[in-house]
This record gives sequence, C-alpha cells and structure tokens, in this order.
Amino acid sequence: MSGKLFPSPEVPPVEAGAPPRRARASRPPAAPREAATAFVRVAVPLPVFETFTWSVKAPVPIGTEVVVPFGNRRINGWVVENLSTCDFTDPKPVEEVLERVAFDANQLAFYRWIADYYLSPLGEVIATATPSGAAVRTRHTYQPTPDGIEAIATGAPEGTPAAVLREIVARPGLTKSALERRLHGEVQDVPRSLRAAMDAGWVVSADVVVEGTQDVEDWITLVGDATKIPEKATKSRAVADALAAGPRPLCSLDAPAVLRMEKTGMVRRETRERRDPFVPDVAPTPPPVLNAEQAAVVEAVQGKGTWLLHGVTGAGKTEVYLALATRAIEAGKQVLVLVPEIALTPQLMARFAARFPGRVAALHSALTGAERLRAWRRIDAGEADVAIGARSAIFAPIPRLGLVVVDEENDDSYKQEDGVRYHARDLAIVRGRSAGCPVVLGSATPSLESWENARTGRFHLVSIRNRATPRPVPTLQIIDMREELKVDGAVPLLSLPVHAALTEALAAGGKGILLYNRRGYASFVECPGCGQAYDCPSCGIAMVYHQQARRLDCHYCGFHRPFQPDCPKCGTTLSILGRGTERVEEAVAEAFPDVPIGRMDADTTTGRGAHARILDDFKEGRTRLLVGTQIVAKGHDFPDVHVAAVLGADHVLGMPDFRSAERTFALVTQLTGRAGRGDVPGRVFLQTHHPEHPVFGCIGDMDAFAEHEARVRRLLGYPPWSRLVLVRIESTDRVQGRDAAAAFAAQAREQARRYAGVDVLGPAPAPLARLVGRWRYQVILRGRDLAALRGFLQAHHQGWKAAAGVRRIVDVDPRSLA
Ligand code: ADP
Ligand code: ZN
Repeated sequence: MSGKLFPSPEVPPVEAGAPPRRARASRPPAAPREAATAFVRVAVPLPVFETFTWSVKAPVPIGTEVVVPFGNRRINGWVVENLSTCDFTDPKPVEEVLERVAFDANQLAFYRWIADYYLSPLGEVIATATPSGAAVRTRHTYQPTPDGIEAIATGAPEGTPAAVLREIVARPGLTKSALERRLHGEVQDVPRSLRAAMDAGWVVSADVVVEGTQDVEDWITLVGDATKIPEKATKSRAVADALAAGPRPLCSLDAPAVLRMEKTGMVRRETRERRDPFVPDVAPTPPPVLNAEQAAVVEAVQGKGTWLLHGVTGAGKTEVYLALATRAIEAGKQVLVLVPEIALTPQLMARFAARFPGRVAALHSALTGAERLRAWRRIDAGEADVAIGARSAIFAPIPRLGLVVVDEENDDSYKQEDGVRYHARDLAIVRGRSAGCPVVLGSATPSLESWENARTGRFHLVSIRNRATPRPVPTLQIIDMREELKVDGAVPLLSLPVHAALTEALAAGGKGILLYNRRGYASFVECPGCGQAYDCPSCGIAMVYHQQARRLDCHYCGFHRPFQPDCPKCGTTLSILGRGTERVEEAVAEAFPDVPIGRMDADTTTGRGAHARILDDFKEGRTRLLVGTQIVAKGHDFPDVHVAAVLGADHVLGMPDFRSAERTFALVTQLTGRAGRGDVPGRVFLQTHHPEHPVFGCIGDMDAFAEHEARVRRLLGYPPWSRLVLVRIESTDRVQGRDAAAAFAAQAREQARRYAGVDVLGPAPAPLARLVGRWRYQVILRGRDLAALRGFLQAHHQGWKAAAGVRRIVDVDPRSLA
C-alpha cells in the first residue's frame, strides 16, 4: 500500500464516549520544548478518539506494541507516531516496549482511513485489524451459563456484574480485553465485576487453546477404554466422544481434560505436520479454454480501477478470477480473494488450490490469532501467492498486491456488525486503489450500490450473459399459495406442483433442494385457552420451538425453557404456530418416506466441518433432498439437482428493511443457479402469498429488477440515492433510552440546519426494540452528500455526552436496520 493515497483525516473524528479518566497525556498544548528523550503517540484499544503521548528512551518503529500506564491501569497500545518534541511538560514514560511490530506505516495509513470513514477510534481499528496474542498459548474467553441467561431473563439483576453478564450473553466468547473495550465508560472495574459474575455462577471462562505458529501440531488418539471413564468426569467423556471417530488435533479439544487423560493412559499424543483445514489437498488441474465472454472480461480488466463483473449463475466467473489471478502471479504479484464465508465456498477454495498448488493461504474468521499470524507470515514472506478469506482477510498484509477479487459482492456478510462496522467490499476498493491494481466485484445479483456505481461510470461494468457450459436455463414457476387447498385450516408446506415435481425428479434419480429461511420447528407457540404467548423475557420476541431439543429458544439471546405441550397456566394443549426448517424436514419426510433427507441450518452446522459433511452427503447421494435456510442457496455446484424450491420467500420480503426486495431477488436468483447444472433442465419453484410483488416478475433479469428498485429507492430517498448513518441508542432503562434518543435527535436536527441536505429521521424504537434486556432506539441520518454527513457527525459528536448507562452505536452505511 502506498501511504500517500490515504490522507490522514484533517479533523480527527471524535465521539462522545466517556473521556478517559485521568488520562495524563491529553493536555492543552504548552510551549513546545526540546526534550532529551523521545516521545511516542500511542493508540489504545478503547473507545476513545484521541491518541496519547508518552516518553521513550529512544525512538521505536511505527506499529510497535507498548505497555503504557492509563489512568490507574496498564494497557497495551501501538505506536502510531514518533515525536522529537512534546508539547507538554512531564509526560509519563512507556512502561514496556514489546518486540512485536504489528503494522507498518502503509497499514497505519489504511487504519487511519478506516477510523475516519467509520467514525471509529484508531485503537479499535488496529485491534480489529491485527492478529492478537501471538505469544499467548491459551486465551480465556467468557461464556454465559444457563443460570446466567436465566438471571437476565427472569431476575432482571442490576449492577455492574449484571452489565458484564448482559454483554457476555449478547456476545458469548468475548475475551477480557474485548469486554473492557465494550464496557468502557459503563463499568469502571471490569475484572472485578467479571469475578463477581463468575462467583454468582452466571459466567464461566473457557480456555481456548491458541495454536502455535509452528508447522507441527499435537494430535490426540483415544487408546483406552472410554466406558471406564467415570460418569461425573463430564469433560473427559466429552473428549472421548469427540475422539470416537478418530484422532483429532489437540487444539480442538479441552486441553486440561486431555492432560488428565494422558496421565491415565486413556489417550496418546503424537506430533504431526500441520495442514490448513480450509485448503483441500487436490490434484492440480489445467485451465480450460475460456469462452468468448470470459475472455472478453479478462481482456477488459487491466491497469487499475474497479470492475463490476455481472454474470448469471454458472457463467464461469470463478474461471475468470483464476485467469486474472494467473496473470497477476505471472507478473510477480499476489492476489486477494474475498468470499462471504469459507465454509460455504469449498468449491471455490478447491479450484484455487488445484490451480495454484501449495500457494494458497486461507484466512478465516474462525482462525485463532496465532493461526492467522502464521497465514499472514506465509503471504508476507511470499510463500503464498493467493490469500482467500472472509471479510477480515481484507486486513492481511500483502506486500505485492496485484489483484483483489470480491466474490458475491452483494453478500451482507462482508459487513462487520460489531465494533468497527466496516464493509470489506468497500475496503477492498480502497486497498486496490492504493495498490494501483484492479478490483473485481463479482455477482449474479449485484448490490444496487455497485449497480449504480457502474451506471454512473465509477465502476466498469463487464457482463457474462450465458452459462459457461451451454445448458438449458431452468424454468421458473411462481405458485400462489393463497390458491392451495388448505389442510386442517393451514396452507400445506409443499404445494401440489412442488410435490409432483419432486416425485418426478426422485423417480428419475435426481435430487431436490428446498429452501425455508427460518430454523427451528415452529416460530411461535400460543395457548388457545388463555391466550398466553411465549416471548423471551429479555428480548420480548417470540421464542422458537425446537422439536429435537424439546424446548423453546430465543434466537437472539439463547434463553430457553423446556417445552411442555400443555399450557402451565390453564392446561390447554398449546398451538404450535408458524414454521421452521425442522418442520419442513418433517413434512418432507412424511411426503417422501423412503428418501434420505439432509438439513442445513445454523442448528445443524455448528462445529468445524459440519457444512462440508452435509454438502458431501448430498453430493454423493447419501441424501437426496436437502432442506435448509438460505445457506443452501450459496454457490454449491451439484450436477443432478432437478428441482429447487423456495417454500417460503415471504418472510425475507416482509422484513422491515428497504433492502428486503433486493435480498429476496438475490436469494431466489441464487437458488435458481443451483438447479439444472447437469443435463436435465432444472425446475425452480417459488411459493408465495404475494405473487403480484414486482420482485417476482424480475427473477433472472437484473436490469429489470434494478430499474424497478431504483425507482422505489429514489422515491423514498434510500441508498444508493442517499447515504445513511444509523445511530442506535441503548439502555436497560426504557425511559432513559427513549429520552437519550429524543435528546440526540433534537440536537441532531438543530445541527442539521447548518448542513444542506442532511435529514434526521427518528427517534424510533428499533425493529428489534429490546435485546438482552436493553431497549433500543434509533436515529437515522440521511444525506446525499457523504462529506456533509460526515462533517455534520464529527461536529456533532464533540458536543454529545451519554448519560451513564446509555450507550451509542454509530453505523456508517448500515446493512441492517434491525
Ligand atoms: P459461477 O461462479 O459464475 O456461478 P462457475 O465458475 O462455477 O460459475 O462455472 C460454472 C461451471 O462451468 C463450472 O463447473 C466450471 O467448471 C464450468 N466452466 C467455467 N468456465 C468454463 C470454460 N471456459 N470451459 C469449460 N467449463 C467451464
Ligand atoms: Zn432473548
């Protein structure tokens, strides 16, 4: 990256979080004085917008990690500037200069750009972007216990331990430093409150063993008789269960339990060469001859700039990426490929691994800090030419970047929904610009933002209109579910045409994919006797009935209670209403009793390798019908899928979000691409109660959809015809939250008068009005001109102060308005 292309922000963004208490460094400027020692500016990983000055014995490189006194604590931070003079007297010395240099000046320039654009503190950006804890062997993370979840839901405890608990319930697996960052200004002494929450039995710490950076790792084999493990040794039993299917790496097991079992001879340890679990070992494949459309795209992508590659599903976009990557590598460059989720794109990964054997590094958000660091080192040292990863891969240091590819550029998973809320596609464009290399955004259903950028010439549009291997385009049939015969007063899950098509497909040896975008069995239960509904007490949202687990689950905070078929109040048998994938699986099993069925949703895909197993079973024919949420629509390529059906598209369409039509369009188009990849033409069905909705008339026709959607968005003033910044205000106290939101909105309106074209919408309760006991309000700032919007926010933040217990989240270019 070349630093000069990232101008540092003229006005550092300032958010009115609580200012650091007794931060000694930030003082009014005094007369500069020549100093005998050197000084450093340090960014700290806390929600504070200033950087602070400490003294050092001698200058240290930019990016060096240091330990500094901060208030009455010691924290780690990073050197972002060396100073020869200090503008105030008596700066404190840095306590420790660590050996590790986490980034260089070019990376720092990138971080500054992000901090400025996303109105985030520089230290938080650095903490997000750099792998942490390289030397640490284990990492303590915190999880809520069932008692803890229950306490929040039913006891409404107060005080700082409860605030810590609430945070951990909302984001299980946080580390102590992440907790400190999130609760900064809200909880004074996080470690103490955390101990109190643990003492109360609400929270437990789980040690995650961080893999080393070496190229070997320890593997564990079960050698003893597992039935001899005592009943109450639950951890050892869990390890034995995990090992029943064969040896596993130590890092995937509970290390203390393994050590105990090693002593009793229950398990054996051996050292093996480490393999990246995400890069498959596949035979090298020669490239196919590109067809004319593909070749034209490869020819067009030259020099620098951003290309939007719009290609129908099956267009052969991956071959285009591979050809472009080959060209870049032959020119001595490296390639960054972003994918929505590595576990969902095994085929893309396999094709890159086959084309560039041994030269691919996978970067995945599930990697530990040390694993990521090891992958980074391979790229940095030039041992890998291609880095493939999900959104956080955008931060990989790639010294000779020559091509950036963003596959499925419209996918929402590129947006980080926590902490620094960056969008990896947008950062890809920034990186490509600074490296002077081409950026290719690929999709069958580009985002309206990218489409508009292509229309106005900011991006170059390149298209592939035909499938790479000429196959009949699948037929699409839209089924009006209002006309289906009701069974027991309810519309059946499978319409008659879908049932008939599946019967035919199965008889012909084909397979079927059925999409239902909700997991669980029933989306709510209700007592017809007394009217009692079962909402989560923390979130106020209907709890979902999971039949396999026989319980009601809150999908937002994890609160659950056992399910009893009769109402505990009046004894009437509960009505099980609404549907989910479990129920779809059941209905399909009833309709096709002899056919093996796979289910893929968030409940069946926990744990590494679960996705691959389900997909493999389906590919190899061990299952012949695949039921699942939208993850079944992603880019898997199965040759013999004759039928693909969206059984319920309406709840995506019905979401209270201006992008719901765009998401429905993308989902249905993607699913269409799953059908008919073999010789039999595919049939796609869409069951809906709103067949008249314009989106259904446009499936497969991006131009028509974009034209229609553009009209709607322009009329309503939504992106891409405006930019949005979402400000969410949260408090456990409803009135306090509401008042703080109202005060913010009033101030924002007052300020907005000085900025042409900035609107303030709200305050309004967020669509998810309460989560984990916090009331949520939102104010949306909207403007056509991003510079005005940012200027406004920066000016505004300085004056805004949160009351204790109120927190504020700023989301620039939000993808989710929930
Ligand atoms: P997309 O990513 O655009 O949906 P893929 O890259 O998966 O499409 O390509 C679809 C199929 O066409 C794949 O099986 C791929 O191997 C094949 N294919 C792509 N390009 C060619 C080509 N030039 N010659 C032969 N087969 C091709
Ligand atoms: Zn809940």
